[in-house]
Amino acid sequence: MDPCNSAQDVVLCHLCETPVPPLYCDICQINLCKTCVGEHILDDSKLHIVVAVKHRQSLLVYSKCPEHTSKLCELHCEQCDIPICVQCVFSKKHKAHDAIDILHFSERKKKALQADLEELGKTIYPRYQEIASTILDQKADLKSNTEQLITALNKRRCDWHREIDGVISKLKTDIENTELNHLTVLKKEEDKINNILTEITEKISELKKEQDSNDACLFLKYKSRNEEFRRLPPKLIVHLLSFSFKDIDKKLLNQQFGSLSALSITTEKRVYTLKTPETNTPYLDDDDDELLKL
Ligand SMILES: [Zn+2]
Ligand SMILES: [Zn+2]
Ligand SMILES: [Zn+2]
Ligand SMILES: [Zn+2]
Repeated sequence: MDPCNSAQDVVLCHLCETPVPPLYCDICQINLCKTCVGEHILDDSKLHIVVAVKHRQSLLVYSKCPEHTSKLCELHCEQCDIPICVQCVFSKKHKAHDAIDILHFSERKKKALQADLEELGKTIYPRYQEIASTILDQKADLKSNTEQLITALNKRRCDWHREIDGVISKLKTDIENTELNHLTVLKKEEDKINNILTEITEKISELKKEQDSNDACLFLKYKSRNEEFRRLPPKLIVHLLSFSFKDIDKKLLNQQFGSLSALSITTEKRVYTLKTPETNTPYLDDDDDELLKL
């Protein structure tokens, strides 16, 4: 019986109640007119499958029996799970089997199919959509984490460069100060020696004069200073600075500079819950959580 034929059962658009709408959403199981269909599919909380009502087969098409070609398969064998004809029921193969009316069977199957379709559109598809958007978030997190790490590394590099520059400038100051101190000591010694040299030169010319004069009086007054000049000043030994260092211990260097935590991707169980209120039981599989090592 076609429901459109009886006046009290006129099909209306689910949204605006326009009679005999040409479209139908297989997921929401509602009729829609052309005006309302756009708004309906804009709701992206679920997947909508909109079909033309005229494409929805209301009459069951029977297949021909492959064994008895003049017969149509109007029955279904429960044990063999295949369509059979009335003649098949009495055949040797299906004699002991249970045959049910194919209309009844296909109604059962259609209900199961409709339930699957609804679950796919209303729950499973949106869940996968949600997962896909989580992956987008994870990719964004990964990118921003990389940026943060690189910023931290650059900051660390600046800190280390500053420390190394500090060490170098302190050592440079030490080298320059040491040079200055040593130079002062050497200058003082140089002056002292130059003074003695002057004194010796003066002494030599004084002695030459006295020798040439042959003055007895001067000879009598003569006092030798050679004893004094023989006492040579102590030799100054300047210990020059040297720069020593240990080989760079790369392991220690890495430890001190900082290291990255181990990279890994782990998995966690997702709980699947049906959206329909009467079957609100979580669906779990038995797989253990896995750790995927990179
Ligand atoms: Zn409408
Ligand atoms: Zn829909
Ligand atoms: Zn048959
Ligand atoms: Zn059978």
